[in-house]
Amino acid sequence: MHGHLSTLLAHAGCETDPATGALTPPLYLNATFERDEDLEYSRGYIYSRWGNPTRTLLEESLARLEVGAESAVAAQGFAFSSGMAAASGVLQCLRPGDHVVLAADVYHGVRHLLQTTYGEWGLSHTEVDQTDLSAVAKAMRPETKLVWAETPSNPNFKITDIRGLAEIAHAGNAALLVDGTWTTPLLQQPLLLGADLVLHSATKYLGGHSDVLLGAVIAREDWPLRDRLLDIMASAGPVADPFACWLVLRGLRSLGARMPLHCRNAAELATWLEDHEGVIEVFYPGLASHPHHELASKQMSGFGGMIGFRVTGGRERALSVVKRCQLFRRSTSLGGTESLIEHRASIEAIPGRVPDDLLRASVGLEHIDDLKADLAQALEAGV
Ligand SMILES: *Cc1c(COP(=O)(O)O)cnc(C)c1O
Repeated sequence: MHGHLSTLLAHAGCETDPATGALTPPLYLNATFERDEDLEYSRGYIYSRWGNPTRTLLEESLARLEVGAESAVAAQGFAFSSGMAAASGVLQCLRPGDHVVLAADVYHGVRHLLQTTYGEWGLSHTEVDQTDLSAVAKAMRPETKLVWAETPSNPNFKITDIRGLAEIAHAGNAALLVDGTWTTPLLQQPLLLGADLVLHSATKYLGGHSDVLLGAVIAREDWPLRDRLLDIMASAGPVADPFACWLVLRGLRSLGARMPLHCRNAAELATWLEDHEGVIEVFYPGLASHPHHELASKQMSGFGGMIGFRVTGGRERALSVVKRCQLFRRSTSLGGTESLIEHRASIEAIPGRVPDDLLRASVGLEHIDDLKADLAQALEAGV
């Protein structure tokens, strides 16, 4: 009855507090909880590394959003201190000798972890262009336990077929994880398309105001390593702090209004940039010219607030365009109210992976005319 995601979002975490009647969620900053007279913990909380009421509220809200109010899929949320702590927690569930099939243009931090710490601890991985499902099938090995996908991918804006990936992963007894940071549950719900795990950097759209670092994993309840992930959180302690959880709950309550405006502004800028003489190519899954536009239209309910574009004149011109921007802030990250622009090749520093003339923008909530005017004057650089 109240099943629309925007309705769930508007009320995220707002169950009336039984003690006080407070409408919006209280913030439980405390580290520890009192035992009953008989030394039981009848209220369920012992110590905040194991569980905290504000964290529980966020974890339950995220799980509900990921599967929708009416869904038959049961899921559980886990809130970590950052997106990378969440990614790390999932990788720690694997064992030495296990193998991961990784999207070739996965978030660079995930590749870094697999190449360094977890590689040294005996996890192997293969990078594959996951838009080619037969290449994914070929990369599977008997010891493959996890297929790690990200769609749209970063920063090349490729769209991968979540249903197709899930079939391949499950045929090999592996789980499928989708990094859903760019889409949020509002635009894409991977668990309903067959994925086992969704990862979010809530630092981005879910928090929505560039003022909190938090990560989340939402796992299907039949994912066999769920207890192991819980144990890693409780024993290793990479958990989200209560104030960060509270800020993300607050961010969620306006996501239903923010996300459509991010999408609309991004779509309009992408279309406008496509016709600009100083631009070679625009990457936005909502454009009919995007090579995976049809798949994006099927598995996403909106195309997101991120755009990429290649400018004429190579690296030097790309850098000078960024330098001239006044409204677009020169910064990495995404998903805040303010528009950001960055020269991605200088951030990722892996030669050849990201075109040198590519600029990536997180399109914010400003008036579209002001955004266009800023890019228009910045694109005059060096033409
Ligand atoms: C930012 C980001 C992460 C990492 O999240 P943090 O909160 O910065 O640790 C992971 N995946 C994607 C797609 C991201 O954009």
